[in-house]
Order: sequence, then structure tokens, then C-alpha cells
Amino acid sequence: MHPYRTDIGILQVDIHAPWGGVVPKLAQEAHEAAMDSTVEQALQQAGVRPSDLEAVAVTVGPGLSLCLKVGVQKARQLAAEHGLKYVAVHHMEAHALVARASAPVAFPFLCLLVSGGHNLLVIAHGVGRYSLLGSTLDDAVGEAYDKVARLLGLELRPSGGAAVETLAAEGDDQRFKFSMPLRMRPNCNFSYAGLKTAVRLAIEAEAPGPATDANRQVRADIAASFQRVALTHLEERTRRAAAWALEAEPSICHIVVAGGVAANKLLRSKLQGVAKGIGLELVSPPPQLCTDNGVMVAWAGAERLALGLWEHLPASAADDAWVDVRPRWPLTDQRDSRSLSEP
Ligand code: ATP
Ligand code: FE
Repeated sequence: MHPYRTDIGILQVDIHAPWGGVVPKLAQEAHEAAMDSTVEQALQQAGVRPSDLEAVAVTVGPGLSLCLKVGVQKARQLAAEHGLKYVAVHHMEAHALVARASAPVAFPFLCLLVSGGHNLLVIAHGVGRYSLLGSTLDDAVGEAYDKVARLLGLELRPSGGAAVETLAAEGDDQRFKFSMPLRMRPNCNFSYAGLKTAVRLAIEAEAPGPATDANRQVRADIAASFQRVALTHLEERTRRAAAWALEAEPSICHIVVAGGVAANKLLRSKLQGVAKGIGLELVSPPPQLCTDNGVMVAWAGAERLALGLWEHLPASAADDAWVDVRPRWPLTDQRDSRSLSEP
């Protein structure tokens, strides 16, 4: 079993596949079905009991409210029953901060967050303190990868993005000349809706119908051409953001790339070039910590704990029907923020 993955025997991708998208109610049921045994297994693997812990950290947003509630309820129960400190975590902050688990990355740093639902360029000034340089006007790059994977008839496991990356390695990335998004907008924003449509039209014209061995080469060429544009867009925006960020915060030494798409090898190598060109160092979490995982939430929780950003819950919280979740929660809006003092 993967060390960072709890084997609960169900993959959500299988549950939602027949519906062509995530069905909130089914996702909630799957979370409920897996919650107790997942926590149990994590504790067992770590060889600890709840009473050995100091704190419990949980994602309170952003995300699907029905699913967030399942996790928050469990965390509040654990905290109240065992007298643990309760740490509320922002999902995207967890993606960003876990880069600091394996490399010494000091604040402030520039951060590119690329995942299934987010496309952000931010300066991280401290825990809970982010300023926004750019975000997507429509879709996130991970979402575009997933859509392209479906259009190309690829296996969505472990992810659509990984499947497109693998197929693209066999393709000619110059065969389809998809246009670069927002070429005339010299800022740090992103757009993927137009590229998604262009890829769909190319597939309908050049490789309609099911995926077969006969159309594999053209599908690989489409995947490679899509990936070239999708990642060059990220590369160009990050280069501009690095220049802006250094002007605002000359002490920046690192560019962090995090979120599921950061697992992409070509993206990492493109961003290496950007970082080197401007005298910065690129840091990315190990690939298994790029897509959603518990380690990143625990790490962000530990960072917050060290700063005193935790709550004490009364014993009655174990039975609370009310839970505080924040389905729409901008990363830049964290009222309890505090700067991490550097060693
Ligand atoms: P968010 O974090 O915005 O709420 P999410 O949690 O669903 O969204 P993550 O788990 O961080 O997203 O990342 C999953 C995304 O990363 C998917 O869109 C997936 O296709 C993409 N992805 C994973 N591996 C790769 C890869 N090698 N290349 C490109 N994309 C990838
Ligand atoms: Fe995520």
C-alpha cells in the first residue's frame, strides 16, 4: 500500500464516473462510509491512540460543504472526546505549506497553486498571509487536464492529468497549433476554457468516436499539443509573477509549485528554467504529496499549532450538529492570520 494513502477499498473516481462529474450527495455518503475506518487505519499505522495526540487538524474549506462537514464533525468529535486542540485548515494553504515539510523554504515565497479547482499565483508572506497576483478567469488547469482525458477516452486513474501526461510523451507537441490563452493580457491571470474547446474540436475532427489503437497517434499528438500550451501558459505567467514578486518582496528566494498538477514532470522542468533564469530556487512537494492527501493537512495543522492558531472545544462539541465549514473561502481572507517567525 502507498505510505500516504489509506486503503479504504473505494475510489471516489469510480463512484462518480457514470455521472460525468462529482455528485455531492454520493461524495458525502462515500466520505461517511470511509471516515471512521480511515482515521482508525491512520492511527494504527502510526502506532498511536487519539489520547497520545496533541491536536487534530481538519480542512474546513474551500470545497463541497456536504463533504467538508463529514470531516469537520469527525475532527470536532475527536478533539472534544480526547481533549485535543482543534486546528482549522484552508485546503489550498495545506497544498502550499507541505512544500516546507521536505525543503527549507522560508517566507516570503512565490507560490503557484495548480489543482483540480484552483489556479493561483500568490506571495506567501507567512502562515495565513497571502497576497494574490493572479487567478483563473474560468477553469483551473487540472480541470482542463481532466476534461481532455475524458475527451481522449483515457483511464481516469490515478488521475486524468497523469493519463494525459503519459499519452503526451508519445506525441508530437507541434502538430496542433492551439492558441496561447490571454496572449494580449500582460498580467498573471489564467484562462483554460478556450483551450478546452479547441481540444474538443480537434478531437471531434481528427479522432472522433472511441479510443482505438488506430487513432492512438493522433490522440497522443493532441495530448502533447494541449500540454505544451497548457504548461507554457503557466510558465509565462509564473515568469511574470516572479518579477512582480521580487519587486514587492526582494527577499524572496523560492518559487513553490504545489497542488495536483505540480506532479507533472514537464511542468516542473519548465518552472526550473523560470526559477533559474531569475536566480530563485524551485521547490515542489514530492509527487505523492501534490494531489490531495492527509499529510498536507497535518503539516499545515502543525504549522498553525506552533503559532498558537488553534481552538479549545468544549466536551459538548462532540455532539454538536452545528459545524463551521467555509465552502467558498479565498486564500487571501484569513482573519486569524499571523506571520510565522523564522528561526
Ligand atoms: P482543489 O485542490 O483545487 O480543491 P483537487 O483537490 O480536486 O482540487 P488536487 O487533488 O490537488 O485537486 O489535484 C488533482 C488534479 O491534479 C486533477 O485535476 C488531476 O488531473 C491533476 N493532476 C494530477 N497529476 C497530474 C499530472 N501528472 N499532470 C497534470 N495534472 C495532474
Ligand atoms: Fe486539492
